[in-house]
Amino acid sequence: MKTLNELKLAQELIRFPTIKTEDKGIMKFLSRKLTAIGFKCTIIKSKGTGPKPALNLYARFGKSKPHINFLGHTDVVANLDNWSVPPFKGTIKNGQIISRGIADMKGSIACWISAVSNFTKNKKLKGSISIIIAADEETTGLGTPAVMRYLRKKNEKIDFSIVGEPTSNKSIGDEIRIGRRGSMNGVIIVYGRSGHAAFKNFINPCTALAKIISKLKSSSLDNGTKFMPPSNLEFTKMNVDNLSENVVPQSVNAKFNVRFNTKYKSSSLKKKLNQIIISTAKKEKCRVKIEYRVSGEAFYTQPNKNILMVKKIVKKITGNSPKLNCRGGTSDSRFLGKIPRLELGLRNNTIHQIDEKTSVSDLKKLTRIYNQILQNYFN
Ligand SMILES: [Zn+2]
Repeated sequence: MKTLNELKLAQELIRFPTIKTEDKGIMKFLSRKLTAIGFKCTIIKSKGTGPKPALNLYARFGKSKPHINFLGHTDVVANLDNWSVPPFKGTIKNGQIISRGIADMKGSIACWISAVSNFTKNKKLKGSISIIIAADEETTGLGTPAVMRYLRKKNEKIDFSIVGEPTSNKSIGDEIRIGRRGSMNGVIIVYGRSGHAAFKNFINPCTALAKIISKLKSSSLDNGTKFMPPSNLEFTKMNVDNLSENVVPQSVNAKFNVRFNTKYKSSSLKKKLNQIIISTAKKEKCRVKIEYRVSGEAFYTQPNKNILMVKKIVKKITGNSPKLNCRGGTSDSRFLGKIPRLELGLRNNTIHQIDEKTSVSDLKKLTRIYNQILQNYFN
């Protein structure tokens, strides 16, 4: 079996313009590459953004335990105007590959596959390596859950997972995510009683909303955890639909977003917020309706021997000891349930931007890191 070069593979992946949940043949291409190095590939469909389904990939090498997994996504964001080079060509300039999706995250997929091809070459492996590639991380986020359902049905158990999201900040490997904060959106509608502003025949929902906001902002949710900052609530919209200057409105509404740490589940957080909101509204004699939408629960893997092993490898290859943290928004890692995991990928300084780029030397380093992880994991 042959080894695959990370740079060549990254450029090949870049050339599929996989915006939104469009496939353009990329999963077939990946299946072909992975089958050639001994993987068994399954395409798993999920609902796409257009009329066509999104195609996700599950590929497995080996049948026995232990089972290490890599999770990635091949979809990319748009923002394609004003580039200095064509965004889907894989152009290299001054040692930088400038392409949409190179850092987020076709580059790290190429590094992982290259590392695996090197590691499994002429080897009888005792254990398994699998790869999950979602087609919709940037949009609907239904692909990874579909693959997870498939794995549950087939009774396949993953022991450790590496998520290839671009976690590196100033230099390759300087940050490793061991969890992510949860995110929840809320809408509060406060109902009062409208009336003439000059007469005291009204109950003003504006006053009640102002007090609710002030109460929510002044109550501390928690003090944070060792790896996560304190939970934080921010109001993002306030709305009083009122065309008159001398009429107190009947109702007002506001929206907020909370980023929360592992001290809460969304259910316990809702309880706490409801209590503050309802009791404050009651004091103002207002009725209140609260709606929530949870985008993701907070999750975290206690630094275990695999995480510490990866930390050591990064130090050995880059010279710098990485920080373990839970920064950033959320990622498909949230769908991995109880699987112990970490996220480690390329630098995130240009992701989603015009002229997204990664250096060729970073691609090489990440491939070496992934290769060492495989060697140590199976030792
Ligand atoms: Zn990503």
